[in-house]
Amino acid sequence: MAFRNLKLVGCVIYGRGSFNQLDEIIAPHRKAGAPMIFLVDHFFEGKALASRIPISGNDKIIFVDVTYEPKTTYVDDLARELKETFGIVSGIIGIGGGSAMDLAKAVSLMMTNHGSSADYQGWDLVKSPGVYKVGIPTLSGTGAEVSRTTVLTGPAKKLGMNSDFTPFDQIVLDPELTADAPANQRFYTGMDCYIHCIESLTGTYLNEFSKSYGEKALQLCREVYVNKSGWDADSDEKLMMASYAGGMSIAYSQVGVAHAVSYGLSYLLGTKHGVGNCIVFDKLQDYYPEGVKEFKIMVEKNNIDIPQHICAGLSDDDFNKMIDVSLGMKPLWENALGKDWEKIMTREKLRKLYEQL
Ligand code: NAD
Ligand code: ZN
Repeated sequence: MAFRNLKLVGCVIYGRGSFNQLDEIIAPHRKAGAPMIFLVDHFFEGKALASRIPISGNDKIIFVDVTYEPKTTYVDDLARELKETFGIVSGIIGIGGGSAMDLAKAVSLMMTNHGSSADYQGWDLVKSPGVYKVGIPTLSGTGAEVSRTTVLTGPAKKLGMNSDFTPFDQIVLDPELTADAPANQRFYTGMDCYIHCIESLTGTYLNEFSKSYGEKALQLCREVYVNKSGWDADSDEKLMMASYAGGMSIAYSQVGVAHAVSYGLSYLLGTKHGVGNCIVFDKLQDYYPEGVKEFKIMVEKNNIDIPQHICAGLSDDDFNKMIDVSLGMKPLWENALGKDWEKIMTREKLRKLYEQL
């Protein structure tokens, strides 16, 4: 068996207010005449955070549309526009949730790799390191700040550019930035982390490395969503570290049933990652009995709405498309159900599961 030689994020700064050090952090990476490009979640257009971005020279802020999860066409357009306008850039800085961070990673890679980002959806297809890239989360949970992937929807598939060149060179973990996120959104994205932990800790790929991070992340999620009433500054800090540790946990193991099923929803219906995972996990008591029980307690306690009946009225064709996408996620199923997963998760069984969502 070959062990994975895990490529990690280059530098990490953590702390309330650490965003204020961004200027000095990026200064050594500035190249003469080449701007820093800030890809900022469109939510922050006109907000206080946007005016705190340390622009200088010909730097540019681009507010990115994250209404839909990142598409390869959007990545290609952004990279082409930057190459046409500036030739080279000093770096790409993504500020936002998982979507804005993934866009930043992908655009950085497409500044130096030829063709379309769709050509690199898969494992270890990226040829050259991208330009300097920084990730600054404003929502906690996805683990996109630490992962070696950037999840993109392409013409043929929804799949990440997984490579050793994908992780950020620098991340800025400032819990202050997540303070004002709407409660439902913050819960859906936070549950992405909770679900990463459950899927990693109950999976067949589990090892001590993943377990160490997964257990810590799970404990932090519980402190935020089970033990407390209401949200405070401490919750922002805990969930930010939960996201980091949860990301580290799955980096050396794998996710499971909720993610495999949710990918089908996202492909067919455009359901976003966080809420999609919640919709699926809510119905997975046969696979994760303890986790689902606790999940329902957290939903109730935090007064969250989980959408129901989103698959009502879909055609056989639609169900088959989702089933194809889902069963294509082989490592996820193998992690969740073991080597014989194909005998356990039949198309009929998966169809029944989708019908409940
Ligand atoms: P998101 O980035 O899609 O953002 C969700 C919504 O929250 C958007 O409307 C956004 O504008 C808004 N928002 C972000 N920060 C806010 C703030 N502080 N206050 C108010 N609103 C704010 O949500 P997400 O759940 O963080 O990310 C999901 C994306 O991450 C998906 O595209 C998914 O594929 C990707 N993802 C990537 C990885 C990875 O390893 N690369 C892992 C998991 C998920
Ligand atoms: Zn996830």
